[in-house]
Amino acid sequence: MGEIGGVDNPLRVGIIGSGPAGFYTVSNFFKQKGVNVELDMFDRLPTPFGLVRAGVAPDHQKDKSVTRAYDKSASNPNFRFYGNVAYGTDLHMDDLKRHYHQIIFATGAPVDRDLGIPGEDLTGSHSATEFVAWYNGHPDFADRKFDLSQESVAVVGIGNVAMDVARILCKTHEELLETDIADYALEALKQSKVKNVYLLGRRGPAQAAFTPQEIKEVGALLDADIEVSPEEASPDAASLRSIQANPDKNVERNVAAIADYSARALAGKRRLLTFRFLVSPTEIMGPNGRVEAIRLMKNEGYQADDGSVRARATGVEEELKVGLVFRSVGYRGVALPEVPFNESWGTIRNEHGRVQSVDGENLPGVYTAGWIKRGPSGVIGTNKTCASETVNCMVEDLAAGVHFNPVEAAPASSEAMIRARQPKVVTYADWKKIDQAELANGEEAGRPRVKFTTIDDMLAVLGR
Ligand code: NAP
Repeated sequence: MGEIGGVDNPLRVGIIGSGPAGFYTVSNFFKQKGVNVELDMFDRLPTPFGLVRAGVAPDHQKDKSVTRAYDKSASNPNFRFYGNVAYGTDLHMDDLKRHYHQIIFATGAPVDRDLGIPGEDLTGSHSATEFVAWYNGHPDFADRKFDLSQESVAVVGIGNVAMDVARILCKTHEELLETDIADYALEALKQSKVKNVYLLGRRGPAQAAFTPQEIKEVGALLDADIEVSPEEASPDAASLRSIQANPDKNVERNVAAIADYSARALAGKRRLLTFRFLVSPTEIMGPNGRVEAIRLMKNEGYQADDGSVRARATGVEEELKVGLVFRSVGYRGVALPEVPFNESWGTIRNEHGRVQSVDGENLPGVYTAGWIKRGPSGVIGTNKTCASETVNCMVEDLAAGVHFNPVEAAPASSEAMIRARQPKVVTYADWKKIDQAELANGEEAGRPRVKFTTIDDMLAVLGR
């Protein structure tokens, strides 16, 4: 047999995770000149695409169209998808070493970060992660309940996820009908009594983590007014100095959008979306076991030694009456069996995508890409460059002879192993059947798609 990566001895790579980082790994590999590859992708869900399916807001259908590029990668005869196969349960590190030359973990950052304040566990306090996965029809979250009979809701954090959550809470039934939001969420939100949504930023508008497109979008909500007090809308002195020293178009656009909202008169719409700046939650209050209010500390901005503008407490407190809290302060990766993990960062230990032991030694043949490699930042496209960096390392290592030496490298033997472990494995052709069924149900309902939200319903499409 010839060299690994040659025509008669393809480089066999196992990819764990089928979100953007997994699919950009695939497209990057297929672009490599002179390396013949066979790529097997695994996902614990029967459906591919990770956060594009279960995280991107259902009213952002355009963002979901990146899956067309993923479909193109998947159509390469050297690609195989094995859905409904979980690493750590159906498949272990030893199995991967037996069948592949290299493996790459692209499992994302599936859980939320804590605020670390009292009351986080009260009934009515949820992570945005849960709510987002619920309204997007993720099978693990389909049976969650959120008390939308509450009139006032606080969303902690002002990143793009917080904006998604606030927008979905503020949209009318008619607006949501145009989305592929899960049917049960569509119904629950139709009955929603939510009137006031507070978005709570611990720093000022110049440090907001949302992007200009998202802040502009909320201004077009059909039945929700936007409110920001002129005092909180104006950047503090430290921010003004920072903007002057480091002009940034996105920051300027965000600040201008907030200033514009603060000058708008309320139009008496059914809902009110209020932006609060320079406030930090210090306690979620609920003497009877469920959320009744959130205590906020007023902050002031100051310029730290590294030039960044940070928040510090002024000692002035207030109480905001809310019956529901969504904590939206960022995602976190989860450790995988037999993969070195940095607990404080919530990422796999790695350098440029090469997985490393706690002692900083490269683990030959093991790689990572996406949020589990670098943390939960950036937009979908950021994963393209991230995956490209890792794939370059993998190709470089291949040339240097660094890889596993699988004893069963024939595709038929990995296929047999996978089918023995998980008889209900879902291939890409199977996924396309599920996809077509969802699209057909969507067409019938006059919506982009009606999702299956249980694994049983997905498998039923395949007659299993
Ligand atoms: P994020 O962008 O990191 O925002 C987190 C927010 O939480 C920030 O406002 C942060 O404030 C705040 N925060 C953190 N710790 C806090 C604390 N202890 N108390 C109060 N506030 C706290 O995270 P994300 O919104 O989860 O988004 C994750 C990534 O996905 C981002 O890169 C985002 O752009 C991307 N995304 C993009 C889209 C889109 O393109 N439409 C949609 C969704 C998500 P500080 O800035 O002060 O730390």
